[in-house]
Amino acid sequence: MIISRQKEREELLQALSGMQRVFIVGCGACATACKAGGEDEVFRMQENLAKDGIDATGSVVIDEACHIMRAGRDLRHHRQAVDEADALLVLACGSGIQSISSNTDKRVVGGLDSLFLGNVRRFGQYEEKCSLCGDCILNETAGICPVTTCAKGLLNGPCGGMENGRCETDPDIVCAWHEIYERLKRQGRPGVFGRTVAPKNWGRRGKPGRHNVER
Ligand code: SF4
Ligand code: SF4
Repeated sequence: MIISRQKEREELLQALSGMQRVFIVGCGACATACKAGGEDEVFRMQENLAKDGIDATGSVVIDEACHIMRAGRDLRHHRQAVDEADALLVLACGSGIQSISSNTDKRVVGGLDSLFLGNVRRFGQYEEKCSLCGDCILNETAGICPVTTCAKGLLNGPCGGMENGRCETDPDIVCAWHEIYERLKRQGRPGVFGRTVAPKNWGRRGKPGRHNVER
């Protein structure tokens, strides 16, 4: 899921300066799970903004704010409240914020910062495992991603800073390449250590990304 968190109050108020009425949009998927933009957070945001003299003309929590057409449909259902607002305040990831802005000419203010694609350890505890590089090498690295979990993103680690299996950037972190080596050893295969590592083909991660599933 996309991990996000709310912007600091001061930063948000700065982005909203000069506005008196906002329509608040939340997201029922990732932002809800992160407790950054679900029903509760939309309600609390409404209460907090009122204390700062900004009223909400209305609100909606879209099932998945990143769904462009669904976002457009839900905004149309709240057309009057949207029209009455000076801006739409969106509590969703950057993708969700842009879904909303692609559906309106109104000013759109993002209330969250998007952090990373996260695995869930347990509720409220998220870890980054994949950076969506478009050229996955997990088959060679025993299912451990060095692009993401090595602090330097090395394809040919470990670096000289590794000590007792720990990363030089933070001794609390296990060196990704140490883990890769140990797991490949347990599996009895050389994996990435048995071949020449070609330069990463970053061209496979073209931006902006596009992917159409064939029907
Ligand atoms: S190699 Fe790329 S696609 Fe595979 S897990 Fe790592 S970042 Fe994600
Ligand atoms: S110690 Fe390991 S995880 Fe840390 S930067 Fe070096 S190779 Fe990467």
